[in-house]
Amino acid sequence: MNDVAARLDDVRRELADAARDSGRDPAEVRLVAVSKTKSARAIRDAYAASQRDFGENYVQEMQKKAAELADLPDLRWHFIGHLQRNKAKVVAQIASAVHTVDSERLAKELGKRTAEAAAEGAKARGPSDARLRVFVEVNVGGEAQKTGCAPAELAAVLAAIESEPALSLVGLMTVPPYTDDPADSRAPFDRLARLRDEHGGAARLPELSMGMTRDLRYAVLAGATMVRVGTGIFGERS
Ligand SMILES: *Cc1c(COP(=O)(O)O)cnc(C)c1O
Repeated sequence: MNDVAARLDDVRRELADAARDSGRDPAEVRLVAVSKTKSARAIRDAYAASQRDFGENYVQEMQKKAAELADLPDLRWHFIGHLQRNKAKVVAQIASAVHTVDSERLAKELGKRTAEAAAEGAKARGPSDARLRVFVEVNVGGEAQKTGCAPAELAAVLAAIESEPALSLVGLMTVPPYTDDPADSRAPFDRLARLRDEHGGAARLPELSMGMTRDLRYAVLAGATMVRVGTGIFGERS
């Protein structure tokens, strides 16, 4: 077993343990392997170990890797970085999900570009899921410098996504403020879960994308359905 496969095993075990400890079915929690700065080779190792969902933060890097890995047709790219509207078209062509929609303007642009990509047949996701899956990133910590919409703006962003026929609203995402103690993430994760309840619950927003290597346990305890793990699978980034 290579390093990536071994670490992937450990992360899967940690996730399953956290799910059982919170009385949840481990199958309810999916793993997005965050491969930013890592090689196509490392992604192939994870793919060989049955990982299919991969997260990237930078548009050009995702584009390059998607080309290098085009022989793996059922690999799904999740865009998890800050997205500028002028890059929406490339993301619409490649990604199966975007976790970081945080404004009405971005939702509108992404909807338009996804419809265009579908019309041009450029869609790499395949005909079975032509719509782009979208999460709204919420800044639950209220930090001034961070991305994500404010909780007060959430209703408008959700409505903007639902008015775009090419987009499929699937849930909410957050990155909690960094502190020395990963347990501190529990409160912001609980806040994201509460916001979901206030905006239609799991019927409207089935997915909660939250938790990274250091705090994935707290995310699962708070109800995460998707965790985004980089370091734990691929090792430290330089
Ligand atoms: C880099 C990144 C991750 C993964 O972080 P790790 O600590 O390496 O697990 C998850 N989510 C987002 C938004 C990221 O930028």
